[in-house]
Amino acid sequence: MKPPEFDYIVATDCDTAVAALARAGGEAKILAGGQSLMPMLNFRLLHPSILVDINRIPGLGFIDETPDSIRIGALTRHFQLETSSLIARHFPVLSCAVAHVGHLAIRNRGTIGGSLSHADPAAELPMMAVLLDATLRIVSAAGSRTVAARDFFLDAMTVDLNGTELLTEIVLAKLPAQTGWGFEEIVRRHGDFALAAAAATLTLSANEIVQARIALTGVGPTPLRAAQAESLLVGRGFDESLGRRAIEAVREAISPETDLHASADFRRHLAGVLTGRALAAAWRRGRRDKSAA
Ligand SMILES: Cc1cc2nc3c(=O)[nH]c(=O)nc-3n(C[C@H](O)[C@H](O)[C@H](O)COP(=O)(O)OP(=O)(O)OC[C@H]3O[C@@H](n4cnc5c(N)ncnc54)[C@H](O)[C@@H]3O)c2cc1C
Repeated sequence: MKPPEFDYIVATDCDTAVAALARAGGEAKILAGGQSLMPMLNFRLLHPSILVDINRIPGLGFIDETPDSIRIGALTRHFQLETSSLIARHFPVLSCAVAHVGHLAIRNRGTIGGSLSHADPAAELPMMAVLLDATLRIVSAAGSRTVAARDFFLDAMTVDLNGTELLTEIVLAKLPAQTGWGFEEIVRRHGDFALAAAAATLTLSANEIVQARIALTGVGPTPLRAAQAESLLVGRGFDESLGRRAIEAVREAISPETDLHASADFRRHLAGVLTGRALAAAWRRGRRDKSAA
């Protein structure tokens, strides 16, 4: 199918982009990697009056380090994240997760800003943003604001952007020393969206968990953190029985849906299994990392 008619503008800086978005009064769509937008246009699921192409804005695709954080520009391609030594050093869980996004051709074009703004309920990067407590920087003609990733994802494919706003930057606070990680995903075929995926980080001190983070995708309309399972883990050492309790807490906390690919029960089962594996891997890696004080 062919897309409906639309106007098209190439923005060469953020001011031009947000001015065009403001002029269109919410009827514009931003074109980043186009990997989700173009199929939706071709299926005529969207009818924007204008596309604002942000691909030629210099300075929107970057990965920078500050003393406490890593800053990622919204136009950073999945492949740049996947191959970044900074990301591999500070957020290996993100390097691992992004390699599961689609196929190489998609990762060459797709951007982190596009993935977060599109917010597919089974996508990996929204889940990473929630796992890593990302802060998102958003600009519009009216000014700029920041929002926590946890508050950004409102519903399936619905985020806290009002149609005249541009996501420009994702900030990840560095993780403490002796933090182990795990990422587990089940797909029907290589490159598919996840049936379910779980990721965890465990920060250890003297073989005790001092901070636990567990995030899931594919088991609800938005990525989510398993707060109850996280709090069960803190103050303890990981073992099989604690793992089982965390798995149960995760299964109780989620309400997956049945669709063409999997039943709700199967997804609930998977979420537990994947959480158990991610936690075991995070514990193993955390114990290996002796750089902690
Ligand atoms: C065959 C196929 C398989 C895929 N498999 C996976 C997968 O397994 N996992 C996965 O997570 N994704 C998958 N994707 C989607 C892919 O990750 C996309 O790259 C991503 O969802 C959208 O990023 P994009 O840069 O292409 O955004 P675009 O398609 O350009 O835009 C997507 C939406 O976000 C908006 N937008 C884009 N950038 C911004 C911004 N900076 N600020 C505000 N709004 C913005 C656009 O207006 C549009 O509404 C797949 C895609 C395809 C075609």
